[in-house]
Amino acid sequence: MADMNTDVLIIGAGPAGTSAASLLHQAGYKALIIESQKFPRFVIGESLLPRSMDLLDEAGMLEAVHKRNYMVKNGAVFLRGDQACTINFGEQFTNGWKYTYQVPRDDFDKVLADVVEAKGIEILWEHKVTDVRFTDTGPETVIQDKDGKTISISSRFILDGSGYGRVLPRLLDLNLPSKLAIRDSIFTHVTGDKRPQGSEEGQIWICVLPGNAWLWIIPFSNGKTSIGVVAKPDFIDSFPGELDEKLRAIIDSEPNARKRLGDTKFVFPTERIHSYSISVKRLCGKYYALMGNATEFLDPVFSSGVTLALESANRAAKTLIRQLNGEQVDWDKEYAEYLMQGVDTFRTFVNAWYEDKLSTIFFCPVHPEGVKSQVCSVLAGYVWDKDNPCVEQHERAVNALAELCAQQTA
Ligand code: FAD
Repeated sequence: MADMNTDVLIIGAGPAGTSAASLLHQAGYKALIIESQKFPRFVIGESLLPRSMDLLDEAGMLEAVHKRNYMVKNGAVFLRGDQACTINFGEQFTNGWKYTYQVPRDDFDKVLADVVEAKGIEILWEHKVTDVRFTDTGPETVIQDKDGKTISISSRFILDGSGYGRVLPRLLDLNLPSKLAIRDSIFTHVTGDKRPQGSEEGQIWICVLPGNAWLWIIPFSNGKTSIGVVAKPDFIDSFPGELDEKLRAIIDSEPNARKRLGDTKFVFPTERIHSYSISVKRLCGKYYALMGNATEFLDPVFSSGVTLALESANRAAKTLIRQLNGEQVDWDKEYAEYLMQGVDTFRTFVNAWYEDKLSTIFFCPVHPEGVKSQVCSVLAGYVWDKDNPCVEQHERAVNALAELCAQQTA
């Protein structure tokens, strides 16, 4: 007999976990979140996409987010030497949100967790999921508190939103290596960033570096700015010194970044994540579904991580609510296939970025009619709008656009 029971056990109080819990609660089901850390806690992934606003709204969390006065992000600027391409979310193919926010995740994730706790949803903080057994009657989860005491919890279903912890993929041997090249990231927060002023202040900058590497600049409303580099490991290692020195040297090597960040102070020592991309054998089983970063993580170049975490949580919660209501649901079709439509659209764009096809589109002197708005909606996270040719036939559309733009550039 288990020590506790709940309808749905959710692993992790990141955006995937809390938004799924909120939707289940709204439908009248009891969700219990198990979170190994104490919030606020740092996590990388700070630039949202407009689509996330719809999802936060549905989960009853948007109002609390608006109140935090985060930096408004109305677009993205891609820079290659003296060439610039601004993607303005106000000029989209899809009729979606025209802005979103740049969010320090320690604050943002705490705000979402506070919303669910205020609704009466329980979060067991500093409790780690260590084991899951699937019995005939459903899953039984073993958790451990920080003193090593174990508790068993029975539930009707488990949603895994454990992010980089990848709890069920590890326990059920679901992890798969990514087909994308191995890339690392180094990052920190800085003060003293010389930002553009006015409506452009909150845009994310992506500066192109040699060797398919790139650098992000994400300004916050608290005066700090997130900066980071994504590159193959040998590119980062080719710069001398410790991580702080490497990051400084990379900034100095790129004129746009040097101009903006040359006089900045680092807020914390530069961190490094090795080989962040990972895939998974399956997204769901009889008693579980994976959400957010516990599924597949592609690449941060289009800031899609939190939006995909919220979208997967939204879809998983809605599918589960129907099942708990007694309806027959086909998880593979209704959850996994749906989710992969969006993930695969982003995958095409990520591949096209590293194959230089997207820069051909971005830096084309005159864009063919309609191209920018279609691309813009994908970069805003509307990757389920099949009226958009860049979604419906993403691979073919991106290849055709790159060819067209190459002809215009020649
Ligand atoms: P998380 O936010 O990681 O939350 C998972 C939670 O589960 C954590 O709080 C953790 O403590 C908890 N947990 C883990 N294991 C256990 C356990 N055993 N028991 C209980 N709890 C557990 N995304 C963007 O949207 N925009 C960006 O600009 C962006 N930049 C990125 C840059 C880099 C270099 C990288 C690597 C990623 C970036 N991402 C970005 C992706 C983003 O970090 C993730 O997609 C996002 O955090 C996923 O949210 P989540 O809710 O799935 O998981």
